[in-house]
Amino acid sequence: MIIDTHIHLDDKRYDDDLDDVLNRARKAGVKRFIIPGADPLTLHRAVEIAELYDDVYFAIGVHPYDMQSFENLDFLRKYVEKFVHHEKCVAIGECGLDYFRLEGSDEEKAQQKKKQKEIFTEQINLAKKYKKPLIIHIRDASRDSKSILLDNNAGEVGGVLHCYNADEELLSLAKNGFYFGIGGVLTFKNAKKLVNVLKKIPQEKLLIETDGPYLTPTPHRGERNEPLYTTLVVDKISEILDTKLTDIKEISTQNAMRLFNIS
Ligand SMILES: [Zn+2]
Ligand SMILES: [Zn+2]
Repeated sequence: MIIDTHIHLDDKRYDDDLDDVLNRARKAGVKRFIIPGADPLTLHRAVEIAELYDDVYFAIGVHPYDMQSFENLDFLRKYVEKFVHHEKCVAIGECGLDYFRLEGSDEEKAQQKKKQKEIFTEQINLAKKYKKPLIIHIRDASRDSKSILLDNNAGEVGGVLHCYNADEELLSLAKNGFYFGIGGVLTFKNAKKLVNVLKKIPQEKLLIETDGPYLTPTPHRGERNEPLYTTLVVDKISEILDTKLTDIKEISTQNAMRLFNIS
């Protein structure tokens, strides 16, 4: 079995055929789905889906791209408080730092970074308060993200990191209770860096994710991504690590169950 630990099922690109999307995946062995919180405007949809299907869970959090609605940290606290006690809520996130799309003058960029850090730190505090693991999005911001995680003792609750930049610098976080989510990027022709990093991730810290509808694996690039395609990612991991497919599935499933406290 496979657990898709990061799939935006609340995205409107799944509205028309969500049942089919889930059934195709289930038939191929994908048996649990976790929707990361990202955009507060679609969270109600994530909760609705998690209530509709036994095998779907959600997380509550704010993606660094969607932080405009959370200028006020008190509002963020109330927002998390409102959903975190739901029985299908398994994590805080996706939260983190993303410096890839910063805009404006240097001063404005510095301002945006500061705001991102503030909101990220607050979500770490909330994760510790409610004893939930973190789903962490890091892009072009490895060093800052790492120091925020360590300075705030985020290892107390642990979490999963997107391997966006496949950054070796983040690997040492494995010993602080952090896991690494591997997705479709691994199948890309130019994924050399991630292929090398993958070999250095302790297997007991390996998780599988689609990040659908984005980052569709080869040979479906350009199409909408969906949980079924985690099978392609698992195939690729098995090939690269020269480890049996069933072992990769078993280990990554146990890892996901342990981190998110699901069965
Ligand atoms: Zn992300
Ligand atoms: Zn995501």
